[in-house]
Amino acid sequence: MTLTTYKKKRTLANTPEPSGGKAAGAKLHFVVQKHAATRLHYDFRLEMNSVLKSWAVPKGPSLNPEDKRLAMMVEDHPYDYKNFEGIIPKGNYGAGTVIIWDEGYYEPLEESGSKKEQEKLLLKQLKSGSLKIRMFGKKLKGEFALVKLKNAENNAWLLIKHKDEYASLKDITLKTKSVISGKTIEQVAKKPVRRTLDAKR
Ligand code: MN
Repeated sequence: MTLTTYKKKRTLANTPEPSGGKAAGAKLHFVVQKHAATRLHYDFRLEMNSVLKSWAVPKGPSLNPEDKRLAMMVEDHPYDYKNFEGIIPKGNYGAGTVIIWDEGYYEPLEESGSKKEQEKLLLKQLKSGSLKIRMFGKKLKGEFALVKLKNAENNAWLLIKHKDEYASLKDITLKTKSVISGKTIEQVAKKPVRRTLDAKR
């Protein structure tokens, strides 16, 4: 686990983005950030071993099991990134507005014990290119899979909702507000706020 790539891509003195953080709590956190960069996308981030494994999902998550949403794996992000909502200034990597579109905790579908054991299992699944998780968010709930595409660019994955009681044909991306501030991307773009939340949540 290293944040070398994350740090290499950014000049941390010039952006309000977090640079570190230590995982806290007995549960594994996740965050989905809506990011109006050059192209709008959703950043899907799962806590594993004190960093956030990250995928950029151009169309955003879907609750429809028929949809397979392309998810490009990107560099690990620091744990504290899960609290970041605000503006990455012009001229910086990923310049644009970020809101916390969803957050909560998650666990592997396969039963496993402590957080440590869950992380061990998840890292094994990550390596094998097939993550199966249960999400406990405000917007995203129930079972999801992240499956690495074979014979494609090696960072291309698919994010797929499993059929369960939370599967739905409703477009979840129509829910446009931050689950933290209640603001849309446009509102945050006008009046930035820095989120510095208790890491113990
Ligand atoms: Mn992004």
